Amino acid sequence: MSDETCIFCKIVTGKLPGAKIYEDEVMAAFLDIGPLSPGHTLIVPKTHVERLEDCPPEILAHLAGKAGKLIQAVLRGAGYSDYNLLCNNGSSSGQVVPHVHFHIIPRRENDNVFNRWPAGRYGEGEMDRMATCIREQLG
Ligand code: 5GP
Ligand code: ZN
Repeated sequence: MSDETCIFCKIVTGKLPGAKIYEDEVMAAFLDIGPLSPGHTLIVPKTHVERLEDCPPEILAHLAGKAGKLIQAVLRGAGYSDYNLLCNNGSSSGQVVPHVHFHIIPRRENDNVFNRWPAGRYGEGEMDRMATCIREQLG
C-alpha cells in the first residue's frame, strides 16, 4: 500500500512536507518542488504503484474523475488557460520517482517548456504493419 522509501508515499502520509492542494481517501495532489511553470502540480494515488499499467482501474477512474476540477483550479489559481497532462513511465521516459503520477503543467505561448516535438514519418506500409503488431498484442 505504502512504500517507506518512496518520496511521494512520504508526502501522502505527511512524513515529508508537501504543498498539498487536494486529498481524499484514494489520492492526493501537491505542487511539484521543481516546477516547469508556476502551479505545476502532481496528482498521485495514495497506493504505491510504480507505473500506470500497475494501477488498479478503479483507482485510475477515481483520479480521472477528479482531474477536471483540479486542472481548472490549478489553471485559475496560477493564471493560465492551457496545460499538458503528462505521465512518465520508466526511466527512459524521464520517470524519476517510481510512484505513478500525473503532471499538470500550465502552459502559455512561447514558454519554451517543451520546445521540441520530434515527429517522425512512417515509410510505405509501415504504419499498417505497426497497427497490426499492436492489435495482435491485444488478442
Ligand atoms: P518524473 O520525472 O518522475 O515524472 O517526475 C517527478 C517529479 O517529482 C519532478 O518533476 C520533481 O520535480 C518532483 N519531485 C521530486 N522530489 C520531490 C519532492 O520531494 N517534493 C515534491 N513536491 N516534488 C518532488
Ligand atoms: Zn510511493
